[in-house]
Amino acid sequence: MVHEGFLSFGVGSLSAVTRGKKVVLYTGMRSLRRSLLLFLSVTGAACGAAPSPAEPSRLVVFIGADGATPEVIDELRSAGRLPNFEKLIRTGTYGKMQSLAARRILEEDDTRRYASPILWTTIATGKVPEKHGIRDFVLPIRGTASVWMGSEEEPAHTELTLPELVGREPLTLRLRLHSYRPIGEQTVRLTLNGTELPPLSVPVRWSELSVPIPEGVLRPVLNDLAFTFSKQAIPAEQGDSTDRRRLACELGGLSVVDANGNVVYSMDPVNDRFSLGHGFYMPEGQLTEVQSVHWRALPMWSLLGNLGHPVGIIGYWGTWPAYEVNGFLVSSRMGLRDRRDSERVTWPPELGERLEPLAPGQAELEDLLKKLHYADCEPPLLEDKTGVQKILLQDEFYYRIARELVPTMDRGLLTVYFRSIDLASHVALHWRHGADLPPGCAETVRGIVDQAYVQVDAWIGGILEILPPDATVVVVSDHGEQPVPGGGHHAPYGIFLAKGEGIRVGEAFQAATVLDVAPTVLHLFGAPIPLDMDGKLLPQIFESDWLASHPPDYADIDTSFSSDEDATAEGNEEILEQLKALGYIQ
Ligand SMILES: [Zn+2]
Repeated sequence: MVHEGFLSFGVGSLSAVTRGKKVVLYTGMRSLRRSLLLFLSVTGAACGAAPSPAEPSRLVVFIGADGATPEVIDELRSAGRLPNFEKLIRTGTYGKMQSLAARRILEEDDTRRYASPILWTTIATGKVPEKHGIRDFVLPIRGTASVWMGSEEEPAHTELTLPELVGREPLTLRLRLHSYRPIGEQTVRLTLNGTELPPLSVPVRWSELSVPIPEGVLRPVLNDLAFTFSKQAIPAEQGDSTDRRRLACELGGLSVVDANGNVVYSMDPVNDRFSLGHGFYMPEGQLTEVQSVHWRALPMWSLLGNLGHPVGIIGYWGTWPAYEVNGFLVSSRMGLRDRRDSERVTWPPELGERLEPLAPGQAELEDLLKKLHYADCEPPLLEDKTGVQKILLQDEFYYRIARELVPTMDRGLLTVYFRSIDLASHVALHWRHGADLPPGCAETVRGIVDQAYVQVDAWIGGILEILPPDATVVVVSDHGEQPVPGGGHHAPYGIFLAKGEGIRVGEAFQAATVLDVAPTVLHLFGAPIPLDMDGKLLPQIFESDWLASHPPDYADIDTSFSSDEDATAEGNEEILEQLKALGYIQ
């Protein structure tokens, strides 16, 4: 059990800091940003005048095609329907890429924990979800929820693990908790590494309680903390059920402070619930979509920006609220809702306003719905799936933003994200595979999924045509899709496709995972690969001569990140509604 928040204390120069209330994932040079701002004031002018602090460099366009499935791509490209995928595959290297926990996806077990935001965060950070902190589709808002403590044993007890704390003594444990209401005030005994601490008297009201940690109790490794309760109860509303939980207390927060009152460790039991030990019951609280403040690891664009490479991020999962980068960031909320209502939709902040006129309108939506066969049902297929329309508009918007901003970069990393394939597959993949059509739907509805691929291919083509010929292009998906009754669901293999200098041509490869994307992209820039990433470089995608003259450089860099800022509920309702409409959450 590792607490990343704690381990990121005292990090080095590549790690994040927070400044005021703003998340800053980039702490490097400012001159590059000035050149972008200069560009922003000269409409349509190509910039590219950035200084060159890091060599070698190249322009890498990184396209995320959520849910793109190797089998479908192969089928459609051999039918000549994906000319741009075909061109990239012919001039580069292409293979299946294993999603996280492929077996769990195959077994349809606990699939939400391997949903898109989790996987895209892994792709950007090269880390497992336990490290990057995004472990669900939606996450509780800090301070709005708490966890229940108790267990079936008599007396009930709970256990959790604290990180290494030796060297910071004397320390005090602080707890925010209250005793379960029906059972009243109670004495709770705490045991740290087997040594009993002074007992706590826990009232029914929420209280901040402190316990000094006696000298010599802490271990130079992880520390085991156990609570034993003097009273426990079966919740009244479940007294006649088979639920034998003996709830005793509710925990709202836990921290460790030093003699000067500095917090040396703090845990939010709700956000950190996956690392809680025995005797904790999952909380309920106010939920939000994944936000940038939830990330516990630096994305590849922050690492590259810190090395002086310009970066541009368009629509990547979980990037709202936008934060400072060495270039621009169009956050995941830019396309999702009425942009004017959300704060910090872009970095730099004024970029949002400039991009606003590019947003497609109703007429373009109608065109897309027709082109993609969503309009071929009467009554309309989409009445209860309003999220579909929003996502089509979002993808079209991100495409236009990419067309607008690609010319501002002549090197560095630019990412664009498209969700239409994932969406079409969730909604309609079963019809592609022969499921009965709903009454009133034309046979063409079976083509919804294929048309989504054709559309994403066209968007990719529109980006390729404005790229310099030596640009490197990477296209990845976070998982594939397989038909299930009622639509489609995640399948264990997505795609990895790359073409550019040093990359093999015409050889399919295997054995890539979503963890390997970030290390491999870093290496395209000659950037050191942090040893704390779980993924590895994919040597099989490179020409052997190029790899011999560009050996990977691994470095002991701490890329953990922790934001002081809390997630917010602002604008949440519409997003949660949309996720519900699409069946992503209950
Ligand atoms: Zn996905």
